[in-house]
Amino acid sequence: MQTLRASKCGLSTAQLPSYIIDVIDALTKAGYEAYIVGGGVRDLMLGLNPKDFDAVTNATPAQVKEVFGRRCRIIGRRFELAHVYSGRELVEVATFRAPPKKAVTSAHGMILRDNNWGNIEQDFARRDFSINAMYYQPRKGIVLDFCNAIDDIHNKKLRLLGDPALRFEEDPVRMLRTLRFAAKLGFEIDQSILDIFTPEMTKLLRDVSPHRLYDESQKLFTMGHLNRVMPMLIEFGIWQQLFADISPEITPFIQLAAKNTDQRISIGKTINPAFFYAVLLWKPFQNRCEYYLNKGVVAAEARAQAGLDVLKRQATRTIIPRFAETFIREVWEMQVRLLNPKPQQIEALSGHARFRAGFDFLLLREKSGDESTQGMGAWWDAYQQMTGDEKERAISQYNRQRAKSRRKASQEEHLEQKLTEHDVAEIEPLVNEAEGRKRRPRKEKPARDRDHHDARALPTDLSIVTADHPILKRKRVKRDLSTVIFGPTQ
Ligand code: ATP
Ligand code: MG
Repeated sequence: MQTLRASKCGLSTAQLPSYIIDVIDALTKAGYEAYIVGGGVRDLMLGLNPKDFDAVTNATPAQVKEVFGRRCRIIGRRFELAHVYSGRELVEVATFRAPPKKAVTSAHGMILRDNNWGNIEQDFARRDFSINAMYYQPRKGIVLDFCNAIDDIHNKKLRLLGDPALRFEEDPVRMLRTLRFAAKLGFEIDQSILDIFTPEMTKLLRDVSPHRLYDESQKLFTMGHLNRVMPMLIEFGIWQQLFADISPEITPFIQLAAKNTDQRISIGKTINPAFFYAVLLWKPFQNRCEYYLNKGVVAAEARAQAGLDVLKRQATRTIIPRFAETFIREVWEMQVRLLNPKPQQIEALSGHARFRAGFDFLLLREKSGDESTQGMGAWWDAYQQMTGDEKERAISQYNRQRAKSRRKASQEEHLEQKLTEHDVAEIEPLVNEAEGRKRRPRKEKPARDRDHHDARALPTDLSIVTADHPILKRKRVKRDLSTVIFGPTQ
């Protein structure tokens, strides 16, 4: 063990928010040892902005509760922790951990309970990577380094503590953490990890709870380097474990959405991680829609059922919370509305709660070369910049064109329908269909329901959308927009 001077590691109390210093001070004052540990120390040393600070102490969770009283809550079963509210922030205070007892590991060696308290040396050995195992005491101005982690920081090396195979078996989520830190920090993965990081090893992820995997997937999506980590997920076989039904290829749409996510994070914008799930599952969703359409299910019902199926399948790997599932399905449903809006609903649609996400999604599809959007991404983009009068004109143009396009589409319908039936392969049902569900035979449908097949592209600049554009012709029906109600999109 070496004791480093914090100042020599580029650390000073001035960089620390008061909430973490308060927690360390309160524990120290009560007679306990307390350190900042983990990503906060690592990121500060690397000149990055830590997303949070974790504390570790020799006080048990019950003793931490005694120190902080009502500001403290004890959480977790497998991994008991104290949550301490300091000002408006929440600090995770962990207790030094000793090696787990044999009885609480699974048949594959995975640790099921981990509440065996220990001393700092034992706690250090339980951490994952050397660079995550430095203990910073800000008041003493020292960093305790048990494994020469400082060299790994300098050499940009990601090194697991202990035997890598054993550490992955104990907690397979460390495989995800390996790729996350390698991508986020731009570190090289140590050869000893690469040697055992096989597709066989990634199968251990099947034993991890889908709730925990969802949390980890969120961290991957929101760390700011999603675009960099995706090929790594595929290369190491993690993608296949996390997203069973999403083929392991980075389509232009997925890539653009990932870049867009990273860019938003880099400029401090918020992101909804469920949005990226909507992107990833878009293709499986469309395939599933086709499956139901080919069975003669009407379009709206096909979409509803396809959405349920795809999310249900994904839940076997990562359980997406209910509110996020609803968001995803609403974003998908918005695609239909935005692609072929009823003219009298256009203005109300642009004020819909899900408009922004649906529009962003449509635009990403369009910008990544999806011609089935028919230029409507650019249309909506331009529409939002218009004055009231311009909007009126754009809507009536759209109205005229739309009528023309629908007439033409119904003439082409018969032929197109035949082609589609031959193109799409049978897919086994993912869920049992409800007994007695009514299936209407497939019949001639208006173009609105078959929008995905119309690949005619609109000009991307609205100023050049003229009256002879295919979707801009129909008489506008006057309607009081404030009374327009959208049906549920679930
Ligand atoms: P970030 O918060 O930037 O994602 P972090 O390293 O702080 O990264 P946390 O999940 O906040 O990650 O965990 C805090 C610390 O707890 C880690 O730095 C590591 O020392 C330890 N730790 C977390 N998860 C594991 C794990 N699965 N196995 C071993 N140690 C872990
Ligand atoms: Mg952390």
